[in-house]
Amino acid sequence: MSGILIVGAGQAGFQAAASLREAGFTGSLTLVGEEAQPPYQRPPLSKAYLAGKTDARGLLLRPESFFAEHGIVHRRARATGIDRAQRRVRLEEGEALAYDHLILATGTRNRALPVPGADRAGVYGLRSLDEADALKGALERAKTIVVIGAGFIGLEFAAVCAARGLSVTVIEAAPRVMARAVSPETSDAFRAFHEAAGVTILFETGVSGIEGAEGRVRSVALADGKSLPADLVLVGIGVVPNQELAAEAGLTVQDGIAVDAFLATSDPAISAIGDCARFPTRFAAGLPGGDRVRIESVQNAVDQGRCLAARLTGRPAAYDAVPWFWSDQGPRKLQIAGLGSPDDASVLRRAGAGFSVFRFRDGRLAAVESVDRPADHMAARRIIAADRSLTPEQAADERFDLKALAT
Ligand code: FAD
Repeated sequence: MSGILIVGAGQAGFQAAASLREAGFTGSLTLVGEEAQPPYQRPPLSKAYLAGKTDARGLLLRPESFFAEHGIVHRRARATGIDRAQRRVRLEEGEALAYDHLILATGTRNRALPVPGADRAGVYGLRSLDEADALKGALERAKTIVVIGAGFIGLEFAAVCAARGLSVTVIEAAPRVMARAVSPETSDAFRAFHEAAGVTILFETGVSGIEGAEGRVRSVALADGKSLPADLVLVGIGVVPNQELAAEAGLTVQDGIAVDAFLATSDPAISAIGDCARFPTRFAAGLPGGDRVRIESVQNAVDQGRCLAARLTGRPAAYDAVPWFWSDQGPRKLQIAGLGSPDDASVLRRAGAGFSVFRFRDGRLAAVESVDRPADHMAARRIIAADRSLTPEQAADERFDLKALAT
C-alpha cells in the first residue's frame, strides 16, 4: 500500500497515523483535520483545562514537530467529499487528495438544543479547544450558570463551576444523572456528590427556550412554565456522529459509519475508527440495541487506531478490546469497564472509601462501575476481557480476591 489518507485529526486519527509509522509503514501518510490546533486530548477540556490546571500545550498528543519527524503530513483542511471510483478526497478549498486506503476518523459533534434562542450569545457547547477557550473566557464574568444535560460533560463542567463558587443548576430530562451510561446506584451517589458541592439538579425537567435581551442569554425557560436566571448556559445533551462524508459516498451508516470486526466499511478501501464508527463486539452481547455499538471514549479511539494500523501493515486481527472509560467529577473518579445497560442487575461492593457496582446481564458480568476504587477497575477490565466467571455473591464479598481472579 503506498498512500494512506486519514480524515479527522483527533484522538483516533492521530493514533492511527502514529501507530502506522511505529509498525513500519513507509508509504505516504496524510492527516487531514479541520481544527487549527495540532491533534490534542479532549478529556481535560471539561476538567483540568477549564479549571486552569493545564494549558493548551499540555493538551497536545505530541509536539507539533512530531509530524514532520515521522513523515506525517498534517493538513489543516475540511474534507467535503469522497470520490470512491477515483479514490480521492475533496477538500473545501478545492484540492483533491488521492488515497490507496482512506481512514475516516471524523468523531462527533454536539447535538443541537432544538429550542428557540439556543443560538444566543452566552450559550455554549464543549467539544473543541476553541469552544473550551470561549467558555473559559465567559466563566471569568459569569455568576449564574445553567447546565442543560446531566451527562458526563455537563456534570464535569458543573463540578468545575461549583469549585469556583459559582451558582450552578443542572437541568435533566431523565429521572437520574448519567442515566444512559450508569446504574441507578452510581447515579444516586453522583447526585449526592454534586448536591453536597452546592449544585442544584432538576430532574424530569424539559427546556422550552433560551430567553435573553440584546441577543444575550438572561434565563432558561422550562417546559413547566418556570424560568431560571442564567448568564451562561452550557448545553451538554450528547453528540451525533460525523457520518455525512461516508453517507454521501454511499457507505453504510446508521448512527455511525458501519464497519466490520476489522474496522472496514462497506468499501474495503475505506475504514472508520473512533467515535464515528459503529462496530460489532462481543462485549455488547445482550444489549437492547444489539451487538453493534458506537463508543465515545479515548480507549476506543486509541485501540481502534492501533488495531487498524496493525491490519494495514499486514497483521490483521479483529478488534476485541474491552471497553473502558473514566470521568472525573470534582474530587470523584468514576471508572467503567465493559458495557452496561439500564436493565442489568446491580451488585454493590463497598469497603472504606469508594465502591464498585457490578452489573450482571443474563448471569454474566457485563460491566463494573468503580468510584474511587482503581484496583477494582483494573481487575474488572481483565476479568471482563477474559470472560472469567464471577458470581454476584463473590462480587459483593469484599474478601473475595478480584485481583487473583483477574490474573
Ligand atoms: P475526535 O477526537 O472528536 O476527532 C475527530 C476530528 O475530526 C475532529 O478534530 C473534527 O474536527 C475532525 N473532522 C470531522 N469531520 C471532518 C472533516 N470533514 N474534515 C476534516 N476534519 C474533520 N473520553 C474518555 O474516555 N474519558 C473522558 O473523561 C472524556 N472526557 C471528554 C471530555 C470532553 C469535553 C469531550 C469533548 C470528550 C471527552 N471524551 C472522554 C471523549 C473522547 O475525547 C472522544 O471519545 C475521543 O476524542 C474520540 O476520538 P475521535 O478521534 O474519534 O474523535
